[in-house]
Amino acid sequence: MSSNPPSSPLPAGPGPDRGRGRQALVKGGFIYLSTLLFCILTTYPTSSHSANLFKYHQVAMGTVVEITLIGDDEETAKKAALQAFQEIKRIEYLMSPWIESSDVSRINQAAGREWVEVSMETLEVVNKAREVSELSGGAFDITVGPLVQLWRKARERGIPPEMGDVKKTLNLVNFKNLVVNPEGKILLKKRAMEIDLGGIAKGYAVDKAFDLLINLGYKNLIANAGGDLRVGGTKLDQPWSIGIQHPRESEKIIARISISDAAIATSGDYEKFFIHQGRRYHHILNPKDGFPAEGCQSVSIIYKKGILADALATAVFVLGPEKGYSLSQRLEGVNCLIIDKEGKNILSPNLKDRISFTP
Ligand code: ADP
Ligand code: MG
Repeated sequence: MSSNPPSSPLPAGPGPDRGRGRQALVKGGFIYLSTLLFCILTTYPTSSHSANLFKYHQVAMGTVVEITLIGDDEETAKKAALQAFQEIKRIEYLMSPWIESSDVSRINQAAGREWVEVSMETLEVVNKAREVSELSGGAFDITVGPLVQLWRKARERGIPPEMGDVKKTLNLVNFKNLVVNPEGKILLKKRAMEIDLGGIAKGYAVDKAFDLLINLGYKNLIANAGGDLRVGGTKLDQPWSIGIQHPRESEKIIARISISDAAIATSGDYEKFFIHQGRRYHHILNPKDGFPAEGCQSVSIIYKKGILADALATAVFVLGPEKGYSLSQRLEGVNCLIIDKEGKNILSPNLKDRISFTP
C-alpha cells in the first residue's frame, strides 16, 4: 500500500500515478468517489428460486473495491456490502503507511529505536510477509519501504533514480533486520528502515471482507480489491469466470479462469509505471539490485486464501518466469499464470482445463 494513497477523507498522499493501467486510472481519477456507494442489480433464476446479483463499489486501499453478492434482498445485501467495505477500511487504517497512526507507520517511526506493539491482524500479516520473504529467498521483502519511496518519487519525476541512491537505499532493505519478540512486538533494527505491506495487505483485506460476508450467510460472492479477489460458491450453478487483464492492452482481458472457493491475485508491470528513454520502470522492485523486476509482464496466483495469493504474485513476479514458476509448483495448492516479458504464457498444469485465452 505504500504507493497507494488512502481513500479520502484521509490525509492526501502523493499525486496520481502516470501508469495507464486500470488501477492507475482509478487511483488518479476517481479517488474522490470514495464516499459514494454504487449498486448494480441483476435478477436471474437459479435452480431453486429467483435470486439477485448485487454489485457494490467503493474506493479503499487506493483502489476500487467491488463486492458481488447473490441474495434475495437488496437492502440486506447493501448493508452486508457496507460492512465489508468498513472491514477493508479498518485494515487500511492498520496497515497504510500514509496514515500516521497506523501500525505500519508506528513500526516505521520506531525503526532503530524501540519495539512496537501492534494489532493481531498486523502481526498476522507481518508474519506471513516474513514467511514469503524466506520462501522466496528475499525476492519478496517486507522491508522494501525505502526503495518503494525512492521509486515513487522517480515515477513522479519520470526519471529513474541515481545508481548511488539506489545502492544507499538498498542498505536499508533486508527482511532479516525485522524481528518479532515472543510477545509479538516488532522491531526494525536500523534507523530509516521501513516496512511496506503493499504487496500483501490487499489480499488479506479481501480475505477479511470475504469471511465477514460468509458469516452473514452469503455463499455465492466475490470480494475484489483492484483485481486481488476472493470468490465463493457459484453463479447460476457454474463456477465464477474471472477475467485477467491484458498486460499491454488495458481495455482487454487476456484470459478467463473458472473458479469457486478460491482467491486470485495479479501483479503486473502495467499498474504503475513510467517510460524513460524507451524503457519501462514499474512498481514491483527487485531487492537484489534495487530496480524494477524484469522477466514478467504479469503474474496471477490462484490459492485458497488471498493473503498468500497476493504475496506470492509479487514474489513470483520478482523471481521471474523460471524461478517463480518453480517456487509456485513447490507449494501445495498454488496455481499460476505467468505472462513473461515476450508475452508468452506459462501455466500450471491444474489450470489448463479451467482457463480460456481470449483471441
Ligand atoms: P498491486 O498492489 O499493484 O496489486 P502487488 O501486489 O504486486 O501489486 O504489490 C506491489 C506493491 O508491493 C508495491 O507498490 C510496493 O508497495 C510493494 N512491493 C514492491 N516490490 C516489492 C517486493 N520486492 N517485496 C515486497 N513488496 C514489494
Ligand atoms: Mg501482491
